[in-house]
Amino acid sequence: MKVTRETFNDVMMPCYAPGNMIPVKGKGSEVWDQEGKAYIDLTGGIAVNVLGHSHDELVKALLDQAQNLWHLSNVMTNEPALRLAKKLTELTFAERVFLCNSGAEANEAAFKLARRYQHDKGNTHKKTLLAFNRSFHGRTLFTVSVGGQPAYTEGFDPIPGGIVHAEFNNLDSVMEKIDDTLCAIVVEPIQGEGGVKPADKAFLEGLRELADKNDALLIFDEVQTGVGRTGHLYAYQAYGVTPDILTTAKALGGGFPIGAMLATDQVGKSLIPGTHGSTYGGNPLGCAVAEKLLELVANADLLAGVGDKAAIIKEALSKFNDQHSIFSNIRGEGLLIGAELAEPFIGKASDIIRQARENGVFVLVAGSNVIRFAPALNIEQEVLQEGMARFFRTLTDLLNSNKNTLTD
Ligand SMILES: *Cc1c(COP(=O)(O)O)cnc(C)c1O
Repeated sequence: MKVTRETFNDVMMPCYAPGNMIPVKGKGSEVWDQEGKAYIDLTGGIAVNVLGHSHDELVKALLDQAQNLWHLSNVMTNEPALRLAKKLTELTFAERVFLCNSGAEANEAAFKLARRYQHDKGNTHKKTLLAFNRSFHGRTLFTVSVGGQPAYTEGFDPIPGGIVHAEFNNLDSVMEKIDDTLCAIVVEPIQGEGGVKPADKAFLEGLRELADKNDALLIFDEVQTGVGRTGHLYAYQAYGVTPDILTTAKALGGGFPIGAMLATDQVGKSLIPGTHGSTYGGNPLGCAVAEKLLELVANADLLAGVGDKAAIIKEALSKFNDQHSIFSNIRGEGLLIGAELAEPFIGKASDIIRQARENGVFVLVAGSNVIRFAPALNIEQEVLQEGMARFFRTLTDLLNSNKNTLTD
């Protein structure tokens, strides 16, 4: 059956507005569309394909598992799930793991666990989840309500209660919102969708202190920052601030859907039989891929190389900016980089990524005004440089056409 971009308009719910081309193949950091046109991927499928497309060892892990066992109900456990959970506990602060299929599910589980933990402690008044403006935690009704973007809950009310929002990187604003109902503080160490905004170290340290002082939990949403993205396996390890609960997804399966919620033993043991579950959570296929992926990413050389590649992007952006002054700010950690647009490009991020795609390179937006880069950690230097060159060609073209309109 022949399908085209038009088919999308005919049969898909219109919650996305995808580009005009349809990718059909990817290898490493390159992608080809239906017409055979090649693209360089500087997005890693929104921080997902952390080892690029169709990585040989991940393909092998998936195929090997597919020959043996695809699915079991949760009335039995399975070897890949146990090995993955063990690995996650060895590599992080966590002692217990809940496996699921996506970032939203991991966060949903985290928020439920936090409330249940307080309930089990007899803190039946401690229900409030304190989250941050412009944060993003997923699209289920609970997670989107905890997220700090009011537009995303518009028309979906009534939304769940017991949620308050404070200003990111502002401890005074957090203290103003705390009362004795505080259950947990939920934060992204770097706000991803909200514009690639890193938390200050003192801010996360302050949140840890405030959580402890108020008998509340600290939850880090590392769905975007986790699994090597920042040059550390998890961003909390670089900050030196340890949460009670951490959520991870996106890159965890390198493109195969899987998520996990990690917690200390003390907190995690509240999810007793019957309190939570997922049909596909912990399925052998996803776990086999994630196990191999973690083995490959938790590698000192790969993680050490992230800084060099990040420097190539940041230096190229700065150099271009010295000549053209179109970014007001270039920021981020490791290979999660945001370039905030200045005049004449304010509000034009979506146009830029569309035009860049025409020129053979994928970049992302983060919010309305930030261009985001999240390439595979193993992107080859030449591919990265060519991708940046295509991006700058796009900006130069847009600057020239802008000038022409002005002189017309
Ligand atoms: C993408 C993202 C989510 C949601 O993950 P899904 O897999 O799309 O449900 C949650 N939190 C953060 C920080 C994210 O970047």
